[in-house]
Amino acid sequence: MTARRLDGAEIARQIREDLKARLAALGTEGVRPGLGVILVGDDPASAVYVRSKTRTCEELGLFHETKHLGVGATTAEVVAAVEHYNRRVEIHGILVQLPLPRQVDAQRVLDAVRPEKDVDGFHPENVGRLVQKRPRFVPCTPAGIMEMLRRSGIEVAGRRAVVLGRSDIVGKPMALLLMHADATVTVCHSRTTDLHSVTREADILVAAIGKAGLVRAEHVRPGSVVVDVGMNRVTDPAVARDLLLPSRLAEFEKKGHALVGDVHAPSVQEVAGALTPVPGGVGPLTIAQLIANTVRAAAGAA
Ligand code: NAP
Repeated sequence: MTARRLDGAEIARQIREDLKARLAALGTEGVRPGLGVILVGDDPASAVYVRSKTRTCEELGLFHETKHLGVGATTAEVVAAVEHYNRRVEIHGILVQLPLPRQVDAQRVLDAVRPEKDVDGFHPENVGRLVQKRPRFVPCTPAGIMEMLRRSGIEVAGRRAVVLGRSDIVGKPMALLLMHADATVTVCHSRTTDLHSVTREADILVAAIGKAGLVRAEHVRPGSVVVDVGMNRVTDPAVARDLLLPSRLAEFEKKGHALVGDVHAPSVQEVAGALTPVPGGVGPLTIAQLIANTVRAAAGAA
């Protein structure tokens, strides 16, 4: 069997297309949604992610602005940047690109974001609302995954879901959303014993661990839906040969690096019923959802 490819890039394109009508309606009311981005330091991956997000703003006509602070920025300086955006009326959504440098207290920074502008859904008020199933803003990656499942006609209610990873950004909100959609949910983490016997129970398996190719065929129930959240950069040719589909090896040889997920695509695609690719799976959905949240924030403020 070769798994059905869940094309996140195409679904993200549909989400962006749907947003155009809402943006046009807001435009007639004189509202142009605005995203304020805070980027700290010089991590190349973070810069790439910020660029992808601001490019999507441009494509759809949203206002955006990025404050780029130096790698030595203090917590107080990052909080001050957040407060600046909190006050600005043309900024409806605030994005603090993570990870922040070690010396910055990320929790204090995220707590400083006004909950009505917290389009990443990381403020404790928005987390609490999500837990209570009355969400305001839902974290973008899990929200994008739920939208992909819905648009792909994948039933969630009554099914067994296993979430690999328990981070505040992906694993925990993913588990809550699946539970609220009536799946029976198990969450695994680095202390889970006999991992593959748990993951093999999943009708829907979401891998968000940050370990290249850890999920292999033996972790996967035949015919199940596998969502690969991981984004890992590989540079070692031997590792690349193991993890990449043959169709991507030429790309690796040309660039000397490649992005891979937490799922070992060559083996898992022979077992799973459906699989998201990396790249072109969850990544584009995350960005589309960020823009959708920003448009909602602007509509709320209109
Ligand atoms: P994280 O904060 O590092 O959390 C990783 C989680 O995986 C933790 O709960 C950890 O367990 C668990 N884990 C680590 N090794 C494990 C193992 N061997 N077996 C079982 N569980 C294990 O990472 P994150 O922020 O959630 O991100 C996860 C991955 O998704 C990363 O590759 C990241 O780059 C990617 N990501 C992609 C997008 C996107 O848009 N595509 C968005 C966000 C993140 P403990 O809690 O016990 O430590």
